[in-house]
Amino acid sequence: MLSKLLDLLYPRLCFACSSNPVAKDVSICLSCEYKITPTIYHTMPENTVAERFYGRVKIERATTAFSFVKGGLLQQLIHKLKYDNRPEIGIELGKIYGNILRDSGIWSDIDFVIPVPLHPKKKHQRGYNQAEMWGQGLAESLGIELRNDLLIRTDYTESQTKKSRTERFANVENVFSVTDPKTLEKKQILLVDDVLTTGATLEACSNTLLKSTDVFINIVCIALAD
Ligand SMILES: [Zn+2]
Repeated sequence: MLSKLLDLLYPRLCFACSSNPVAKDVSICLSCEYKITPTIYHTMPENTVAERFYGRVKIERATTAFSFVKGGLLQQLIHKLKYDNRPEIGIELGKIYGNILRDSGIWSDIDFVIPVPLHPKKKHQRGYNQAEMWGQGLAESLGIELRNDLLIRTDYTESQTKKSRTERFANVENVFSVTDPKTLEKKQILLVDDVLTTGATLEACSNTLLKSTDVFINIVCIALAD
């Protein structure tokens, strides 16, 4: 009774537009949901996302969750997630896509969700790691444990955004470290990040993981943007 009354007085709002009320157990309104289109890459072993890593690093599967349109709603949401203190956006997007992955049944063998780590200094500035928020939503939907302690960042690097492709690769080559190779041995992991651009950071993380232990790497990012 009380919760119904509270819902009437303070309706829950859509996480994307922050204006339309949404029903219980729903986080996004229909009009926003319509503007965020999931990809079907997770159903295709060979796809444009996986191809980015061919010949660079051994990964099992790779997918980006939603179609990226410049200036579109998803780009605005990712911007808010990264720069506007809206961690719940990452969690909600993760839940939506996690449900899609779960229902597909194709990705049911994953043992851990592992976010691309932010340097502690950067995490402190932002208040959270946006990749971890995305991973948290995925982990929740998939019923898998998120582990942010197995792969850590040991060196502070400058932001990637103003760097050339070559500089980006050199910048992240040796900044990651695996804390507990034994726990990861023979495991299928879901390595997650927000936006996939050059793939330099994901490649560096994957190389560090593969050098440390016998692990199977699957990559899931929110979107592919060039
Ligand atoms: Zn909305």
